[in-house]
Amino acid sequence: MKLPLFQPQRYEPIHRFNIQRSPEWGFMGSDEQEAVRVVSQVLPFRTNTYVTRNLINWDRNSGDPMFNLTFPQREMIDEEDFSTLQEVLNSGASRDEVKEVVQSIRRRLNPHPAGQLSHNVPELNGRKLEGLQHKYRETVLFFPSQGQTCHAYCTYCFRWPQFVGNSEVRFQSRSSDDLVRYLREREEVTDLLITGGDPLVMKASLLESYLAPVLEAQIEHLKTIRLGSKALAYWPFRFLTDPDSDDLLRLFERVVKAGKHLALMAHFSHPVELSTAPVEEAIRRVRSAGAEIRMQAPLVRHVNDSSDVWAALWKQGVHLGLVPYYMFVERDTGPKGYFEIPLHRAHLIFREAFNQVSGLARTVRGPSMSAFPGKVHLIGTAQIGREKVFVLQFLQARDPNWVGRPFFARFDPEACWLDDLTPAFGRKHFFFEREYEPTAVSTVA
Ligand code: SF4
Repeated sequence: MKLPLFQPQRYEPIHRFNIQRSPEWGFMGSDEQEAVRVVSQVLPFRTNTYVTRNLINWDRNSGDPMFNLTFPQREMIDEEDFSTLQEVLNSGASRDEVKEVVQSIRRRLNPHPAGQLSHNVPELNGRKLEGLQHKYRETVLFFPSQGQTCHAYCTYCFRWPQFVGNSEVRFQSRSSDDLVRYLREREEVTDLLITGGDPLVMKASLLESYLAPVLEAQIEHLKTIRLGSKALAYWPFRFLTDPDSDDLLRLFERVVKAGKHLALMAHFSHPVELSTAPVEEAIRRVRSAGAEIRMQAPLVRHVNDSSDVWAALWKQGVHLGLVPYYMFVERDTGPKGYFEIPLHRAHLIFREAFNQVSGLARTVRGPSMSAFPGKVHLIGTAQIGREKVFVLQFLQARDPNWVGRPFFARFDPEACWLDDLTPAFGRKHFFFEREYEPTAVSTVA
């Protein structure tokens, strides 16, 4: 029998209720401990011992990208909010008083950017379908309720409201009945993305209970099933030694046998996540079950804001059989001030990384903003006449006719997001601002 290349591990979460009892607490300075104590009241915090013991280099401590990726930092909330919350916590205030302060800070962190709650929810017979989003013609997103958590939380997560227990701002579905009915009606939909959180935190049997009705419905126009997941990075044992790992891989095989293309949309933020023996073996197993793995992540300060890091990530990904897919711009939500990078710098990082890799890694696209009107790709900067401009295009859009149509914004060295941009050449509006009807919601009669 072949010896495993790694020791199987048991999933041990670390979160705000047990961190002070973990050895990791002792590796942190007192300022970092205080940051975790205060900021984790507002933003979700969860990591696990695979991450802390295999991916974080504690010698470098707060300079470590994986530490910054998973541990709350003081600068993630406003200095004033931090002090207010710290005082409330130290004053022995009641839980309700603390909650009130926390909620007011959260409301100011733009919990649902890009109209996720209000504009992307489809309807069936006049009824809004909970836990579904349909923004782009070909792709429907489905949020199974038990998949609204992750093996660890990224501190930059744009879905952070999903994890803070506030049902007002959470979207989720408990069954796939509506999903199947909706998919049947919408012949233009070729792709289903099951996402969260991370749907692979669910037991294989539960994931199967959502997927089986979709497969059994034999919806001919549905060609691809995507699973959005960071399990390979944060908990590769999900595919190796968890009690139902083999069942999960059999389920992948079942999807492929049903004639669907199965794509694991794997979130990898830093090459260190691809450096362990368990992740290599997990990738091998997922691919041998017939799934393709595409890799994507946002570009964020303190974690991966270097072209060498991205080049190394894509090179190692391709070496392991992954397909580089997107470099995103950090969304305008949560602790964006801590992570954001001006667009012109994001483009330079992308270009310098792109220049370092072979053609096989040049499947990647970016920097791309998942903004309200669509996925906006910053192609680059140019001098046109006397004006320096950003050149942009939609990769996906609420109106499919906008895709691939170049448009121009005035160059702004400070701009970090689409909303910060103004049209070039003295125009008052971008073309899509006139054409977009903001009340449009996808509806099936
Ligand atoms: S894996 Fe995705 S959903 Fe989960 S915390 Fe990270 S960014 Fe958020």
